Amino acid sequence: MPEPSRKGERVYRGLPVSAGVCRGKILVLNKPRSGVARRDIGEAQVAEEIQRLSHALSQTRQQVLEVQRQVKAGLGDAEGGIFDAHLLVLEDPVLIEEVTRIVRREKVNAEYAFNVVAEKYASALAAIEDEYLRERSNDMRDVTSRVMQNLAGEKVGPDLQNLPEPCIIISHDLTPSTTAQLDKDKVLGFGTDVGSQTSHTAIMARSMRIPAVVGLKDASEVFTDGDYALLDGFNGVIIVNPTDQTLFEYGQLVRRQDTLQQKLQDLQGKPAVTLDGHAVMLSANIEQSSDVESVLSCGADGVGLFRTEYLFINRAELPTEEQQYAAYLEIAAALKPQPVVIRTLDLGGDKFLSHLTMPQEMNPFLGWRAIRFCLQEREVFRAQLRAILRASAQGNVKMMYPMISGLDELNQANALVAEYKEELRREKIPFDEKLEIGAMIEIPSAVMVADALAKRARFFSIGTNDLIQYSMAVDRLNEKIAHLYEPTHPAIVRLIKATVDAAHAQGIPVSVCGEMAGEPVLAPLLLGLGVDELSAAPPHVPSLKFLIRRLKISEARELAEFALTCESASEILSRARTLARSVAPSLFETEK
Ligand code: PEP
Ligand code: MG
Repeated sequence: MPEPSRKGERVYRGLPVSAGVCRGKILVLNKPRSGVARRDIGEAQVAEEIQRLSHALSQTRQQVLEVQRQVKAGLGDAEGGIFDAHLLVLEDPVLIEEVTRIVRREKVNAEYAFNVVAEKYASALAAIEDEYLRERSNDMRDVTSRVMQNLAGEKVGPDLQNLPEPCIIISHDLTPSTTAQLDKDKVLGFGTDVGSQTSHTAIMARSMRIPAVVGLKDASEVFTDGDYALLDGFNGVIIVNPTDQTLFEYGQLVRRQDTLQQKLQDLQGKPAVTLDGHAVMLSANIEQSSDVESVLSCGADGVGLFRTEYLFINRAELPTEEQQYAAYLEIAAALKPQPVVIRTLDLGGDKFLSHLTMPQEMNPFLGWRAIRFCLQEREVFRAQLRAILRASAQGNVKMMYPMISGLDELNQANALVAEYKEELRREKIPFDEKLEIGAMIEIPSAVMVADALAKRARFFSIGTNDLIQYSMAVDRLNEKIAHLYEPTHPAIVRLIKATVDAAHAQGIPVSVCGEMAGEPVLAPLLLGLGVDELSAAPPHVPSLKFLIRRLKISEARELAEFALTCESASEILSRARTLARSVAPSLFETEK
């Protein structure tokens, strides 16, 4: 529902996840499908229905062939080959015969009959042990959804890589992998019905600097293609048909933002040191090798988190050891002597491979994810560990494991590293013998045994996105409970403090690389709790540096002391806000 607003304009409020303001025409991607309705037909309509089916199948075939042609031209034959399976489904005589039989016998509409048969095949395939066949069930569902759209006369979703003109994309949801493929010249911004601050889609939007608002609830149903809108990624608002007054006010906001960016730019080569001389390591989170440029320009001290998953998604096959080595080396060499912390594969949760079928899980975030996946899929892990080790010979590379829940996993992973180091020695391939290996602390159980982990890790990196999700039982993707996702909850403050204490008792440093680290309001709290390093998306680094250089560590420590004794998340947040605003008011001028 739009909010009451100035005459003629409609205001929709969601969650701001990627800063910036844009305006342009709206393009709504596939609306959510709510089941396929069964419609009874008369004898006279049977032939017509079968004709409709045949037309939809050939229309779909043309579309798939066109997508295949584009993919082959853009990515190569192997990638285009994925669509062969889709074409086979469309030509499968047994399937078509069965659908036709149902239409004739039960006298029902073609959509219904097609969906029944296709779903039966897809579920049967999904249940098969063989991984290759299981994978076909996804092809089946993919192609079914195209056929259904054609039967319904719906427009099949636009090709996101070849949009005819710049637009604001509105969609029920966007996967992290689709977001990674958006053409920044054509996608001015995007809004989704679902999602939250720490979904990987939001994280990707920030790193690509595409303004975005998520959690808009029913935007994909109520917005219409061609509507003119303004998207405010600072405050999480989309305004359809903005009035002249609104456009004028936003023009001023954008100008203030430009002036601030200019001021921030001047800090690029300066250190992140507080007014009372406390030096903070300020690094950047990246998702792909092409992000190196933004690390250099944002003035970070290297990379505190390289999410390697994006090397694995949006491609037909797993990246080989050589391909990974080349990617890691490119980043390490470009940033040398600055450190690059490469995180081992964190697949699962909301990030999946396009070519490898992961079993559908009831609770993917509690399932076969990250280090759990890697410790079982040894060949995948081996290729990555060897690639990281090899890259370490030529740069300041560090490595860390995601989702460590206890000592066993850390020991097992370290044992594999020792084994692959031995292999490389035998092969006379160089690597950094002293490669530092850290553990991510993102599960409450890891905090509870942080003293033991600290004896076997060279550093900790707190993944607050997951630590908050797991300790408060709040799904980080679910906009309906986003209000419960509270980084300043006393439990979170104490978990961070316990992690820092355990690490410092063993003399190892602690970084925070979750989204919390990039929030100017929350960064002082983390520093006050004793966190040594903040790692945030490159667009956040300049504001963090600006704030740190105006802050006294003594003020941050006072805030942390207060937070450790306070019982209310909102009181802690309000104190943190007051401090940040008094130290760096200009950072908050984009708030409305
Ligand atoms: C985190 O959980 O805070 C983190 C940095 O990892 P990711 O967001 O990739 O899960
Ligand atoms: Mg995480």
